[in-house]
Parts: sequence; C-alpha cells; structure tokens
Amino acid sequence: MHSIVQQQKEWFNEGHTKSYAFRKEQLQRMKKMLNTFEKPIINALKFDLNKSEFESYAAEIAFLKTEIDHHLKHLKQWMAPKKVKTPLTHTGSKNYVYKEPYGTVLIIAPWNYPVQLALAPVIGAIAAGNTVIIKPSELTPTVSWVLKKMIDQYFSPQFITVVEGDKEVTQELLDQPLDYIFFTGSVPVGKIIMEKASKQLIPVTLELGGKSPVIVHKDANIDLAAKRIVWGKFTNAGQTCIAPDYMFVHHEVKASLIKEMKKYIHQFYGEKPLENEEYVKIVNQQHFDRVSSYLDSGTVVAGGGLDEKKQRIEPTILDQVTWEDPVMKDEIFGPILPVLTYENLYEVIDQVNQRPKPLALYYFGDNGEDQKLITESISYGGGCINDTLYHIINPHLPFGGVGESGIGSYHGESSFYTFTHEKGITKQTTRFDQNFRYPGSALGLAIIKKIIG
Ligand code: NAD
Repeated sequence: MHSIVQQQKEWFNEGHTKSYAFRKEQLQRMKKMLNTFEKPIINALKFDLNKSEFESYAAEIAFLKTEIDHHLKHLKQWMAPKKVKTPLTHTGSKNYVYKEPYGTVLIIAPWNYPVQLALAPVIGAIAAGNTVIIKPSELTPTVSWVLKKMIDQYFSPQFITVVEGDKEVTQELLDQPLDYIFFTGSVPVGKIIMEKASKQLIPVTLELGGKSPVIVHKDANIDLAAKRIVWGKFTNAGQTCIAPDYMFVHHEVKASLIKEMKKYIHQFYGEKPLENEEYVKIVNQQHFDRVSSYLDSGTVVAGGGLDEKKQRIEPTILDQVTWEDPVMKDEIFGPILPVLTYENLYEVIDQVNQRPKPLALYYFGDNGEDQKLITESISYGGGCINDTLYHIINPHLPFGGVGESGIGSYHGESSFYTFTHEKGITKQTTRFDQNFRYPGSALGLAIIKKIIG
C-alpha cells in the first residue's frame, strides 16, 4: 500500500496531471474504456447482482458517460483561475482564486451501483488533476475484477489504480499519507473512515445513507405518484441509497395509492416478480436474511414472497407499521416499503425532524405552498417534488447528504470543486506601497478606521 501511494505522490509532484490537455485526454480515455468494456461490465453486474442490461446501462454506464461529457464541456472554464474583487485596502494588487488539485485521492466504493459509484468520483478527481486509488466493494467481486482489469488496461498505476479487498485492505490504505478520501457507504463505516482520516487530518467526503421518506399528500396525482414511487423504490431491488425507504401517505388517499402501486408492481415486474429473470437479487445471504427479517413488521399488503436460493425478495408493501417496528429502526436497503399514515403535514415534518437528516426526500402533491413548506421545514440531502431519484441524474445539481447522511457533495461542477483546493492569492504591486499598515505609521489607525468603518 505504501509503495502504491508513494508512487502516485511522486508522479503527482512531477506535475503530469495538471495541464488541461492531460485532464481532457484522460476523460476521453475513460469514455473509450467504458465503450470497450461495456459488455464485460454488463455481464459482471448480471453475475454479481442479476442486474438487467437496461438497468446496468442506464444507471451505471450511461450515467458515467453523461458525467464525463459534462466535465469535458465545462472543464476549461472550471480550471481557469478566478479573478476576484480588490478592496480599497488592497489597492494596486490583483486577487485570484487558483484551482489546485489535492494530490492522491482514495475512493472507497460500495456494492449497490458498483461501477457508477466507483467511477463517478474518479471523473471529478481526475478532472481536478489528482491521482486516484479506487477500492471497490468486495461484495461484488466480479465487478471489482472487471474494474481492475479495465483501469489497468487504460491507465498507468501511478495515475489511477484499483486495489481490491475487504475492510482490512481499506484500513491499511487509510493509514497512508493520502491527500483526500472520498467514501460512499454506510453510516457506521463512514464514522470509522472519518475517525481514521482525522488522525492525519485528511479531508473527507462522506456519501452515506439512512432512511429517506416519500410523502404523498391528498392532492397528489395518485396514479403518477404510484408509478414513480414503485420505480424509485424497487429499482435495483431497493438497494439504492436514495430509494424511498418508507412512505408517509395522507389517510384519505392511502387505499387508492396502494391499489395503484400494486398495479405498477405487476406492470413493471410481472405477476410473479420472483420468477422475472431481470429482477435484481439481494447482494448476499447476510443482507437477504437482514432484509427478509423486516417482513415480520406490520401487515403485508403487496408481495412478501421470498426465494432464498436465488436470494430474491418480492417488491413488498407493509401497512400498519409504527416507528417501534424493526423495519423503521434502520435503513432497509431492500425491496420493502413500510407505510405510515398522517392527517396533516406538520405531523410529518415533526416526525422526520426528530430523526437523522435523510439523504433524500420526495414529496408528491400539487399545492405550491405545501411543496415549499416541506422543502423549507426539513433538512435533507436533496430530492424531488412529484418524482423519485431523478435529481441524481441532473449533472447541474450537487448530490450529497447532510448531517448523518453525509458530508460534502459531488456530480458535475460539485465534483470538480470537491477534489479541488481553492487557493486564494493576492498578487501585490511593487510600483508603490501603502504605508498605513506598518508599525509607526502616524495615520495608520485613522486610515484603517476610515476604510473599514
Ligand atoms: P459499507 O459501508 O459496508 O461498505 C462500503 C465500503 O467500505 C466497501 O468498499 C467496504 O469494503 C468498505 N468497508 C466496510 N467496512 C469497513 C471498515 N470497517 N473499515 C474500512 N472500510 C470498510 O456499505 P455497503 O454495504 O457497501 O453499501 C451500502 C450503504 O452505502 C448503504 O448505507 C447506502 O445507503 C450507502 N450508499 C450511499 C450512497 C450515496 O451516494 N450516498 C450510494 C450508495 C450506497
């Protein structure tokens, strides 16, 4: 580990990564890599998670290509030093913000979108001029292997390398003198990463998880809400960090919403989702056992079936759930949607605000005042009004959590700035000197008071 980091640091210090031409070429190279490895990526995702070609292409490969294109389009402008205003006290000088790469970045990825979540931060990191070490998840080993193979083929190890392994490997990496750590994963592991990073004061971005609510108010378009919630919740079998974790529904529309949701579950996944060859599996036995244990909470009103051999859990809706049930204690991260009922929106705001700040929140309802009330009364990472998940694929929006759901953000310009140190520089004139700041200046204090007030 030590020599990998040392090699990258030396190469960085030699200045190879800093020019616009180099960064642009590497982004283009990454796009080529994705084209060449499209089939192996899709096959690996099928093997590890039973992802369909559609889900793999749309949520992993296409996402990355869009992100690369967005970076290529704006990189020159982002990289340019930014001239800022010169206050009276600085008369004669010019003032700039320089965009400086950190150096060697460690990116630690989870297993649920194992290609996208490993490479999307890499795009930002190399656009910003850093070298990168990627640590993919050991729970999707085929994808991890493909990642290593394609990165090795397209990039030199001094610039980008993949280190495969489990938490011991990660811990060893975290002991190295890194310049930045970008972690995507669970809240408990996020705490371990931050603690480790603090030993060397290494800056971190933490993209974490938690319980993200979806709220359906009585004036919502129920049919559309049902369709978009079923899509957002059961995509990737609920193993999506920003999937609606649980649902608050106004009591007047609960019955019709659940009825419509059942219709869309059948429309998207067939009458027997467990037999649908394109339905994503739960990543391993441990997670299968954990998620299926939630079926004991509340009352099953849709789905509820299991196939232990194939590690699949049917798209499931649980009614009659309370905050005391196990399913409401931790992030579900599986295809089970518990339902809570409410009378007025203030109850919802109060209950969400009593808990850790969610990574995402979705509100369905037509009234603009209510939309504003929810957006402004609850702190959460980001989300949608009248949709689910869609905010994540707009490269113009920062993506990240707040409070327990994360620190920092990325995607598009936010990625560039995440991996960039903004260095403030005053370029002073030598044509004259303003003596008021020096000790012994008779008028110094009077001038400072006049300028500053
Ligand atoms: P995880 O925290 O178990 O693992 C993430 C990474 O950390 C893996 O590479 C793993 O090898 C490593 N790791 C695990 N234990 C470690 C330890 N003790 N020390 C050092 N490294 C360790 O998360 P996961 O199960 O892979 O992913 C699911 C979680 O990630 C969910 O909570 C989900 O919400 C969250 N997530 C968040 C986002 C986001 O963008 N905010 C995206 C996807 C997933």
